[in-house]
Amino acid sequence: MNELLYDIESNFNTLTFKMSDNLKKNDCEKEIHDQVFGICSDRNHTDDDWCQNCNSKRFQQEFNKWTSGNEHIDKFIQDAQLKARNRYEVLEWIPYDRLRNIKYHAKGGFSIIYKAIWLDGRICSWDSENEKWKREVSYLKHEDFENARNNDTKLPLDENIKYGYYVVLKSPNNSSKINEGLLNEVNYLLS
Ligand SMILES: [Zn+2]
Repeated sequence: MNELLYDIESNFNTLTFKMSDNLKKNDCEKEIHDQVFGICSDRNHTDDDWCQNCNSKRFQQEFNKWTSGNEHIDKFIQDAQLKARNRYEVLEWIPYDRLRNIKYHAKGGFSIIYKAIWLDGRICSWDSENEKWKREVSYLKHEDFENARNNDTKLPLDENIKYGYYVVLKSPNNSSKINEGLLNEVNYLLS
């Protein structure tokens, strides 16, 4: 009973907050309903800001807009995007030219580790107002621009860039070994 009461209360708070927030943006009634109740009319919401049904369709529409150049990797990423139940399960192909400040970090047993800045940042949710993915980025630090001046840094940051997402890159010693077997292992780790 207490749990139910709490649920009603918290839903009511979310409802009032989101309704005033949304009315300002002049969104349609259905969208307010969807966001408040966290479900689509198809009742397939799998996380707060995530409708697997709608988002997998959005990913599918972008399948012809990117490629890793390797059909196994493409298929693997596509499958992950279609199956993603929340933002943490999404995989994306990041083209090399969307990275900046690629810097050697360490050498592991089977790979070399680099640090870099991804200009776009990871997907958080669908932004229905602007009809694009909402992405997570943070304000870049002074030291990032200092690193850009270092001769060892590949693809140095331009000075006019303000935001990015810090990533770690693992480069396998023998990248020709990227095949279905390796991807099955990654799949196992993700599930
Ligand atoms: Zn939906």
